[in-house]
Amino acid sequence: MTEPKEYKVTCAYCKFVFYVKYLEYNLICNGCNKIIGYHEDNKGVLLKHGSLIVVPRDTEYHSMLSGDMVAKRSTTKKVHHCLNGSMDWKTDFLDEGRRFVEIYNNPTVRWVGSGKYWCSADINDVIVKYRRE
Ligand SMILES: [Zn+2]
Repeated sequence: MTEPKEYKVTCAYCKFVFYVKYLEYNLICNGCNKIIGYHEDNKGVLLKHGSLIVVPRDTEYHSMLSGDMVAKRSTTKKVHHCLNGSMDWKTDFLDEGRRFVEIYNNPTVRWVGSGKYWCSADINDVIVKYRRE
């Protein structure tokens, strides 16, 4: 069996390129320190129920009631849960079989918004005010 080749990761934020081995989760970009792709529970990054975040003014977020929104002012929210984010390991057969990681979503923080509909924002876009253990 041959040693697995490394997979190329390109950060969507800063375009920094780094390499990981097969099936590595919990990636933090080495260029900009952003949280990218799938993160497992209880690895210190995702926020637990009852944690507090600040959603800064001008942050883009999604409301199940109103669709894509931009925060008009900075507000503190109580975290209900996080979504883990998603990614996949691929081989580009058109590019000499080079392997790369495709990041679909970063972890998302969810809170209960107006009308009790979910609101969610990229975990990189919010400020952690209180991290519940
Ligand atoms: Zn980056």
